[in-house]
Amino acid sequence: MKSYHADERGYYGEFGGAFIPEMLYPNCEELRQNYLGIMEEPSFKEEFHQLLKDYVGRPTPLYFAKRLSEKYNTKIYLKREDLCHTGAHKVNNTIGQILMAKRLGKNRIIAETGAGQHGVATATVCALMGIQCVVYMGEIDIARQAPNVARMKMLGAEVRPATSGSKTLKDATNEAIRDWINNPVDTHYIIGSVVGPHPYPDMVARFQSVISEEMKNQLQEKEGRENPNYVVACVGGGSNAAGAFYHYLDVPEVGIIAVEAAGKGIDSGKSAATSALGKVGIIHGSKTLLMQTQDGQITEPYSISAGLDYPGVGPMHAHLYTSGRGEFISITDDDAMKAGLELCKLEGIIPAIESSHALAIFEDRKFNPDDIVVVNLSGRGDKDLQNYIDYFKL
Ligand SMILES: *Cc1c(COP(=O)(O)O)cnc(C)c1O
Repeated sequence: MKSYHADERGYYGEFGGAFIPEMLYPNCEELRQNYLGIMEEPSFKEEFHQLLKDYVGRPTPLYFAKRLSEKYNTKIYLKREDLCHTGAHKVNNTIGQILMAKRLGKNRIIAETGAGQHGVATATVCALMGIQCVVYMGEIDIARQAPNVARMKMLGAEVRPATSGSKTLKDATNEAIRDWINNPVDTHYIIGSVVGPHPYPDMVARFQSVISEEMKNQLQEKEGRENPNYVVACVGGGSNAAGAFYHYLDVPEVGIIAVEAAGKGIDSGKSAATSALGKVGIIHGSKTLLMQTQDGQITEPYSISAGLDYPGVGPMHAHLYTSGRGEFISITDDDAMKAGLELCKLEGIIPAIESSHALAIFEDRKFNPDDIVVVNLSGRGDKDLQNYIDYFKL
């Protein structure tokens, strides 16, 4: 049977793999040879699930959104990743990776961060384990994201500014890679989404797959069946989507809907709709779809939500798009903001602006009244309050 999971070389169809400089090979190879074995160890599984339960607060609820469902005349469930400790799904992955790092004998963690959400989730688990943490962040992002910089410092992490290039996420990533090359023995690099060289996309997807594992049990309990008609999630790099889709990838009767940020409009030049606009290329060690100029330079993405403004998309999603297994919808800033406010008014839940993109599809994409549609609510809106205030002039 055709599978939409990674093969043993880390390929999803033609996408994925590990396109890395030779100096990084030993680091990735050590991880590649060990990650599946470690994840299979009973003691690893037990510690991972115990922490997800007692520290993160899992299982997160699967909530039937009654008023939202009435408005759009279909059955909408929200998977409440916004209720995770630290406010989003990202911590599922950082918990998994810190346990992986410990089993590999690493005593130092590095990470890159753009908006600071992944930096905070990494600093959190390093504090939890008492492990040294260095987070690389573009100088411009440090200035733009002061509250998250403060959070990381309070949690004991060192935030190192990336001062080259555009002084944003891709420069922070370059600095983190340089650090890892120089510290191959004691350091583990925690990547924050289903991106990067093999085995990262597969490893991160497996850690996040707890989301769809829980969905199946919860739907069984509430609806008497494990499978919804559709699962919907926003895609930046694609980790919350990978987790929400994971156990449904090879179940053809479950529709998969990935939602990207159209920014100011797909043709506006200010967007992050990677699959619609992207071409095949290599970014962060992975062959995937990315937004680039005619001569292959990566173009600067834009979205009102910091978590979606990434110029590539994980190889799983590139394959879901080109194979037609996934339906891809792009949502503008304006439509996302409107959908975010609507959820506040209809359900009393203030969503992250990333998640608001997924909620915005109901305006145009119609479903049958008895369809069960699960939307992965990737995070809460506390971090976005200033954005909401400025946008709606609250
Ligand atoms: C980081 C983030 C995203 C985007 O990242 P993915 O890897 O695509 O999931 C989406 N929602 C929230 C709340 C985030 O913090």
